[in-house]
Amino acid sequence: MIKALRINGGEMGTPLRVLIVEDSIEDAALILDRLKASGYDPFSRRIDTERAMNIALDQESWDVVISDFILPGFSGLAALKLIQARELDLPFIIVSGKIGEETAVEIMRAGANDYMMKDNLTRLSPAVERELREAVIRRNHKQAEKMIKYIAYNDLLTSLPNRVLLHDLVKKVLLDRAAEGKPIALLLLDLDHFKEINDTLGHPYGDVILQQVGHRLSEAVGEEDSVARLGGDEFAVLLAKVTSKEDSLLVANKILKALEVPFIIEEIPIAVEASIGISVYPDHGADFDSLLQRADVAMYVAKKTGSGCALYSPELNTHSERRLALMGELRQAIDHDELVLYYQPKIDLRTGRIIGAEALVRWEHPRHGRIAPDQFIGPAEQTGLIKPLTQWVLNQALRQGRMWGEIGFRIPMAVNLSARNLLEHRLPEAIEQLLQQYGTAPEWLQLEITESAILAEPARVLENATALDRIGTGLSIDDFGTGYSSLAYLKKLPVDEIKIDKSFIIGMKENRDDEVIVRSTIDLAHNLGLKIVAEGVETKETWDQLVALGCDAAQGYYMARPLAPDLFIDWLKRSPWGFKKDEAG
Ligand code: C2E
Ligand code: CA
Ligand code: CA
Repeated sequence: MIKALRINGGEMGTPLRVLIVEDSIEDAALILDRLKASGYDPFSRRIDTERAMNIALDQESWDVVISDFILPGFSGLAALKLIQARELDLPFIIVSGKIGEETAVEIMRAGANDYMMKDNLTRLSPAVERELREAVIRRNHKQAEKMIKYIAYNDLLTSLPNRVLLHDLVKKVLLDRAAEGKPIALLLLDLDHFKEINDTLGHPYGDVILQQVGHRLSEAVGEEDSVARLGGDEFAVLLAKVTSKEDSLLVANKILKALEVPFIIEEIPIAVEASIGISVYPDHGADFDSLLQRADVAMYVAKKTGSGCALYSPELNTHSERRLALMGELRQAIDHDELVLYYQPKIDLRTGRIIGAEALVRWEHPRHGRIAPDQFIGPAEQTGLIKPLTQWVLNQALRQGRMWGEIGFRIPMAVNLSARNLLEHRLPEAIEQLLQQYGTAPEWLQLEITESAILAEPARVLENATALDRIGTGLSIDDFGTGYSSLAYLKKLPVDEIKIDKSFIIGMKENRDDEVIVRSTIDLAHNLGLKIVAEGVETKETWDQLVALGCDAAQGYYMARPLAPDLFIDWLKRSPWGFKKDEAG
C-alpha cells in the first residue's frame, strides 16, 4: 500500500487538482493545455465568484490555485485572502494579461507564490514548474502521513481498529462514562482451535475467516460499540452503553450466536468457535490495561471450561487453579451424569406431613469424592455452565418425581434456579417443554429463586417470573432476609412462597433479633397472602416455636437431611412425617 504512494511529482500523467479562478473559459482551457503539455493530468474546476470559491474550498481539496488577476466582481487578491483565511497550505499562482512589475511585486508580497503571463502561456516558467512539483510532493506526503496514521491505528487485514486505537477509544469512553457514573464492558474474544484451521486451510483462507469474523462481530454489536482486532485470532469489543454485567453477557451470547453460522470457504462450511472473557468498568478495573488483563483472565476461564463466555470475578484470579480444573471437568460431569440429586422433604407445620421435596444437587467426583453445591454453583454461574446444569437438574428432578408418582408417592418437586437462569430468554419455554415431556402438571413444580437474583435485573426477572406464572409453576423466594428486596417489588412478582433463610431459624433460640425477624417475616408473608417456609429446622424446640408463630411449613435436619433417592423412598415409607400410616393407639 505504501508503494502506491511513491512520491512522483513531475512524471508523465501526474494527477494535479487545480482550482482555476478565471472568468474566461478560453483562458482556463489554455491553462489546462499548458499543464497537460508539462506532463500533468489535471482535474480542474473553474470558478469566478467568491461564493463559488468558498464552496470549492469547503468541499474539495486542491493541489494548486491558478487565478486571474482581475475578474468582474472578484479579484486575484480577494481569492488569495480566502485561502489565507483558511490557513491552507496551497500554492497560489496569478495569471494575468498585462501585469506590471509593480503589481507583480505587490501580489508576491501579499503571499502569492508565483505568476504567469497570459500572452506567454506556451510554456510554464521554471519557477511555476517547481511550484507545481512541490505541491504534488506535499500532497503525496500528506497522503503518506494519513496512511501511516491509518496503519498505526488500524488492522490492515480487517480494517478494524487495532489495540492502539482501542486503547484511545476506551480512554475516551471511560472519561464520558465515568462522569456519568455508568458502566462500560470490554469483551475479549479468542477463536478456538484457529491454528488448526490455519494449518488445514492455509493462511490465505485463515485470513478470509478472520475478515469475516471481524465483519460478523461488527454486525452483532451496537452503533456506539467498537470492534477491534488485537492480533492473531484475538478480537476485542468495547461496549460503550451497557447497563449492567448481565447486559454484557447478553451481548457476548449474541456474538457467540452470530459466529455459530458456519463460514463458507470454497463451498465448504467451516465451524469456528470462540471464547469470550468480559470485564466491566468500574467493578473490575478503571483503565484500559486492567480491564483488558481481567477480560483476559475471564477469557482463559471460558476457554478452559468450554463455556463460551465468562465474566471476570476476583475469585477467578485467586485460588483459581483447582477451581479452573473443576470447571473444566464440570461440563463433562454434566454430560456423564456425575451429578446426583438429593431430596429434602418440606413438612407442613400443622399436619406434620410431607408437602414437597427440594432437589439439591451434588457432584460425585471420581477423584475428589462428593462436592457440595457451594463449591461449584457460583463458578458455574460465572462461566455460563449454570445453564446446562440447571437443565440437567430440572430434567432429573421431573423424571424422579414422575417415577415416585408411579409407585404411589406423588410429591411436589422444588428446584433451585440461579440468578443467571432468570436472565435466559427461553427459560419459560424450556421449562414448559420439560413439563410436557414428563407429563407433569405445572403446579407440581416449584421454582426457588434467591433474593439476590431478583435484585440483579428486576425487569427481566419480572418478565420471566410472569411467564412462568402463566405456565402455572409455583415460585418461591429463597434465602429470604439475606438480600434487600423491597416489599413493593415483591408484591409485583407472582410469588406464592417465601423461605426464611436458615441463618435466622438456627439463630432464633439464642438471638432475640432473629426471633423478631422470623416473626415479622411470617406476618409480612401472611399479609401478602404468601405461604412461608422455614429452612434449617434442626431441633424440636425450633419446630414448636415455629408452630406457635403460625409458620406454614418447615425443612431441616430435625425431620430429614437431604437424602439420596433410595434413602428418600425409605424415609417416605417409614417416617411419621412421610407416608407412613398413623398407628392406631
Ligand atoms: P438452599 O437452596 O438454601 O438449600 C438449602 C441448604 O440448606 C442445603 O444445602 C441443605 O442441605 C441445607 N440444609 C437443609 N436443612 C438444614 C438444617 O437443618 N441445618 C443446616 N445447617 N442446613 C440445612 P446444600 O444442599 O449444601 O445446598 C446449598 C445451596 O446450593 C442451596 O441452598 C442452593 O442455593 C444451592 N443449590 C443446591 N442445588 C442447586 C441446584 O440444583 N441449582 C442451583 N442453582 N442451586 C443449587
Ligand atoms: Ca432452595
Ligand atoms: Ca435457602
